[in-house]
Amino acid sequence: MKLKLHWQIIIGLVGGTLFGIFAAWNHWAGFTQDWIAPFGTIFVNLLKLIAVPLVFSSLVTGIASLADISQLSRMGGKTIGIYLVTTAVAITIGLVLVNVLEPGSLMPPEVGIELQQAYQSNVDEKAASVEIVRERGPLQPLVDIVPTNIVGAASSNRSMLQVVFFSLLFGIGLMLVQTEATATVARFISGMNAVIIKIVDMIMLIAPIGIFALMAGTITAIAGDDLGTILRLLQALGFYSLVVIMGLLLHVVFVYGFIIRFFTPHTLKKFFTGIAPAQLVAFSTSSSAATLPVSFECVEENLGVKKEVSSFVLPIGATINLDGTALYQGVAAVFIAQVLGIPLDFTAQLTIVLTALLASIGAAPVPGAGLIMLVIVLEAIGVPSAGVALILGVDRILDMVRTATNVTGDCTVTVFVDASEKRAEESA
Ligand code: ASP
Repeated sequence: MKLKLHWQIIIGLVGGTLFGIFAAWNHWAGFTQDWIAPFGTIFVNLLKLIAVPLVFSSLVTGIASLADISQLSRMGGKTIGIYLVTTAVAITIGLVLVNVLEPGSLMPPEVGIELQQAYQSNVDEKAASVEIVRERGPLQPLVDIVPTNIVGAASSNRSMLQVVFFSLLFGIGLMLVQTEATATVARFISGMNAVIIKIVDMIMLIAPIGIFALMAGTITAIAGDDLGTILRLLQALGFYSLVVIMGLLLHVVFVYGFIIRFFTPHTLKKFFTGIAPAQLVAFSTSSSAATLPVSFECVEENLGVKKEVSSFVLPIGATINLDGTALYQGVAAVFIAQVLGIPLDFTAQLTIVLTALLASIGAAPVPGAGLIMLVIVLEAIGVPSAGVALILGVDRILDMVRTATNVTGDCTVTVFVDASEKRAEESA
């Protein structure tokens, strides 16, 4: 009997982790980086390679099959509304935990100073990106949605929202002009979509190997040839990391669990096993954009979501609904303030909710983006942005968990919108 895909991926993930630890232990970090990690990069590149054509072809095919524009605007309103609400809830969970458990006040001041010194150079490297983020006006995220050139937008997975925007326009145009010629265009794009979905299947055949290589590469990249580095970091930042992970778990289990249990026809078991491959790929790639093709496959094939819903809700979610990132930003901002001894009153906490909401929407669905956007939150509450040096050491690990949360959130809302669209159709 053939092992289910998520079990194959879990074996790759556990195997890669063990191999990474073994390699760091035996001073094989160089060998692992040269000969194993590239297979992980190839796997991620393959997923990224098809992300843009997949978003374009499924969105256009999905919209062209809608009854009319009113269905699109109804779906759009619901999607954006629930994305914003779940993100605000995520930040609140993070804030309650970090304020109650106070991980920052437990850190000895000398460890704080040590961490800041050790990671200052990494912060300096990110200074240019931080400066760009700092100079953005309040409406810049809105301006960023509209590209000036579609080829330019399609050339980077960071500009996924621009591709979504163009695809929406194209799909609406195709729905409004119904001639023989446009029917050919629609058939062509629908055929292209079928081919791309087949390519996703083909890429997933090598997922266990790709994920093995990604995990081994990540561990040896963080630890180098000294496993003690990871242990020392976990000692200093273990409690902070635990608070972030606890918040993410609570959000997944209670908020997403509640939505699935009470607003969709699926059982929790069916939902979580259905999306397990997407969660595992998100965990090992730390990129919601690279995971998008897998998310499509999971919700459509395992949970029966209609293409017109998934093609609309998933790519928008990957770019604006980063609940895990938002929760993490809330915890990180308060943690840094606690370590630096800066008191935060209720207004400051409220500011964190608003700015982390915006910062997560603005964060690109790629590794490490949430950390850069954290600067917006820190600036808004008067905490020096150099404080990110404190948490940089464990960022890669937390990125994995928050990306898996982000992807779970996108899949939850997709299944929710699908269920409510089906109910609306039945009662019509
Ligand atoms: N890596 C995250 C994602 O792609 C973004 C972040 O929080 O850094 O979803």
